[in-house]
Amino acid sequence: MSADLTGDDGRQLRELFLRELADGSLRARQMLDRLRESGSDTQALTGLRGFFHRIAGTAASVGLPLLGRLSAVCEDAADLLVERELAVDKIALRLFDDGLAGIFDLLEERDGAGAPQQTELPERLGVIAVDGHPSRILVVDDDPFSARLIDTVLRSAGFASSYCCEPLRAFEVIESEQPELIILDVVMPERDGFELCQRIRAHPALQLIPIIFVTRKGDVAQRVRGLQVGGNDYVAKPFEPQELVARVRSHLQRLSELREMAIRDGLTRCYNNKYFKQRLEQEIVRTRRYQSEMTLGMLDVDHFKSVNDTFGHPAGDAVLAHLASLITASVRSTDVVARFGGEEFAFLLIESATSESATITDRLRDRISKHQFVIPALTGGDLAVACTVSIGLASFRADDTPQTLLARADAALLEAKQGGRNQVRVGA
Ligand code: GH3
Ligand code: MG
Ligand code: MG
Repeated sequence: MSADLTGDDGRQLRELFLRELADGSLRARQMLDRLRESGSDTQALTGLRGFFHRIAGTAASVGLPLLGRLSAVCEDAADLLVERELAVDKIALRLFDDGLAGIFDLLEERDGAGAPQQTELPERLGVIAVDGHPSRILVVDDDPFSARLIDTVLRSAGFASSYCCEPLRAFEVIESEQPELIILDVVMPERDGFELCQRIRAHPALQLIPIIFVTRKGDVAQRVRGLQVGGNDYVAKPFEPQELVARVRSHLQRLSELREMAIRDGLTRCYNNKYFKQRLEQEIVRTRRYQSEMTLGMLDVDHFKSVNDTFGHPAGDAVLAHLASLITASVRSTDVVARFGGEEFAFLLIESATSESATITDRLRDRISKHQFVIPALTGGDLAVACTVSIGLASFRADDTPQTLLARADAALLEAKQGGRNQVRVGA
């Protein structure tokens, strides 16, 4: 979907921008009057700087690039005066005067054109699902217009975006909403974006959330600092909607890859032990609630040590990877297959009672015992490795805990080994 702000969204945003500009410019004129009286009124100067900063960052995005440039020049001048602690002189006054005059000209034109005065932004622009669910993004920006602008761009690209304009409340909102990505403005009163970023990164549950800073165009110091405090990326204001959306997408993609890596086993690509135990707990709760059925299986390769001894450890690794694919292909996509450790796999057959599970599992055992694992040999050519597996099953009982269910499956696996291997046993 296009991220361009054209059509109704674009018109409404532009209208909202002009309305806020009208309010802000009256206050800016008062500040300029104060500066005319006293060139060392720093409060008035920083207020004026903030006004131009906002316009510099947002005007281009609503189709007013020249106004953005004019305001950026005024902001830079105000910056210089604040940084060097200089008094506002005649040249600076002339510059600010011109900047404000440009804004008032624009507003007069718009009033003359009879543009509607009260246009509210639509609350939601129809969230489109990306990969099953729309990713939740939080925009933190003290400037309500800028926050809404970014929010609107993200929503029209299909994300479930929301925004917070109170920097002091932002951390609380992040903690409670747990967004999947955060867009953070740098320049905010009371708490700047860098400080907030450091706080987010210090929170154990929030360390992986991608953070994209919104910085002022060309401000290298801000970009560097953003990355130093744990930010992942930045976009410069005024931003290009398409670029923002592309960056957001790329960081979300990376995040989902990271999440997958954290729950999968590196060799076999099936789930790891930690994830399996979490799922086991969840599935027990679900099975109990719906009075459904479920079977846990523990599978161990027979005499795997001799596979390693005969063909070498790398060949043993390859057998394990092939085996994982065989197991996964033999169960339903809703079932859960994990490498429990070493050459042992665990699987959960969801909504499957004992007899059905025993049939599925015995078919799997049989398939493995007849399979030739074809593995490239280090010396060239292929190796054909055969192996068998023993499997213990335990079906869920209402009073089971993960531990009791695992213990019954383990005991059944031991019975299968003691019974001569290459067989399935069901725990009593
Ligand atoms: P049993 O039929 O009693 O299960 O015999 P076994 O040889 O399979 O059992 P044992 O527990 O004695 O040995 C397991 C072997 O599996 C030893 C270990 O080196 C090997 N193994 C465990 N993890 C890996 C792995 O990731 N890669 C390879 N190649 N071998 C592994
Ligand atoms: Mg700001
Ligand atoms: Mg074994």
